[in-house]
Amino acid sequence: MIRESFERYCLQCGQCLDRCPVYEDLCIIETALAVLKGGVDEGISRCLTCGLCEEDCPQDLSLKMLIKEARLAMVRRNGLTQGHRVVDPLDPASALSIADRERLPWDIPMGQAEVVYYPGCFVDLFYPDVMRAAVGLLRLAGVEFTVLRGTEYCCGVPSYNTGHTAPLETNSGHLIDEVVHRGGKLVLTSCPGCYLALARAYPTIVDSMPFKVVPLTAYLARLVDDGTLLPGSQEAKVRYHDPCHLLRSAKVDDRARDLLSSVDGTIVLNPGVNDATCCGFGGGVRNNHPELALGISKRVCRKAMKEGAVSMVTNCSGCLQNLEGAKVLPVCDATVYKAVALGIDVGERDDGFMRNCFRRAWRGQ
Ligand code: SF4
Ligand code: SF4
Repeated sequence: MIRESFERYCLQCGQCLDRCPVYEDLCIIETALAVLKGGVDEGISRCLTCGLCEEDCPQDLSLKMLIKEARLAMVRRNGLTQGHRVVDPLDPASALSIADRERLPWDIPMGQAEVVYYPGCFVDLFYPDVMRAAVGLLRLAGVEFTVLRGTEYCCGVPSYNTGHTAPLETNSGHLIDEVVHRGGKLVLTSCPGCYLALARAYPTIVDSMPFKVVPLTAYLARLVDDGTLLPGSQEAKVRYHDPCHLLRSAKVDDRARDLLSSVDGTIVLNPGVNDATCCGFGGGVRNNHPELALGISKRVCRKAMKEGAVSMVTNCSGCLQNLEGAKVLPVCDATVYKAVALGIDVGERDDGFMRNCFRRAWRGQ
């Protein structure tokens, strides 16, 4: 279907490449079409799935979706690559499974509640400071909540974006059942990929979703609005980096800017989303093409520094990893920023643990 649309309607005008951080040549369209007809990958694995190409197409075509279809076709024909297996929650030798077995236990609510905090596997396993910030803020606000964690509840989106659909299809029913079993009516997500899965992909798989899904930052901003959460204080000029999966894929307002602006002394240098771009992480690119991913994040961070930002703030563990990897200026998660401003101890993050899990997964150990 998408192949026919491109063959019939694409004008070869190149508008889609104007803002694309990766491709400069329209032959990527021919490459993706060729892969769908049985050809080999000559660059489609470099797509960030950022969606910038969709914004100005005069024919309303999506190069991102064409490339996604081509990736699905590649996996169907050739099976999984090591790059897929490293982040496959169903594979016991993946980095996620290794981390799930070896992480330290932590006392968090796991019982019944209408509000379910769903950190997602990356935050849960590798960004405990984000999870402590989220749990600390919800406790401070007096919210009764439960936490759904572990790779058995991975939403499946990281795999899906690289063409591997099984984790999303396998885990969706299990995850929905567990939320219902806990009495959940509202799921709060820390990860844009999880939001995309639960709020956009799962409703296309099941007849009806038995709960609502809201980004955690939007929920916290509402608690600020009604006076439940106080402003806190932090003197800083920051640039907010919009995660592509929230802004363009899910088209949801995460209200992270409102959360940051609520902090006394904090100035958000980019109040609107007009020049929002991609950090370079997504679509498996950080995993499979790290030099490309880090080249893009360096450009993004240098621009922020030139504008006078002392720090970048984002709302996605993938963006956080890639922007930090640029080593240009400090980068912080929005929930952590608010928690620290309110004096909550978010503890230390051990990035060595993540590197170790990925190194062993790549080696197949
Ligand atoms: S902008 Fe749309 S019509 Fe133009 S080349 Fe890209 S996909 Fe084709
Ligand atoms: S999704 Fe992003 S990286 Fe992929 S083709 Fe579109 S703009 Fe380029």
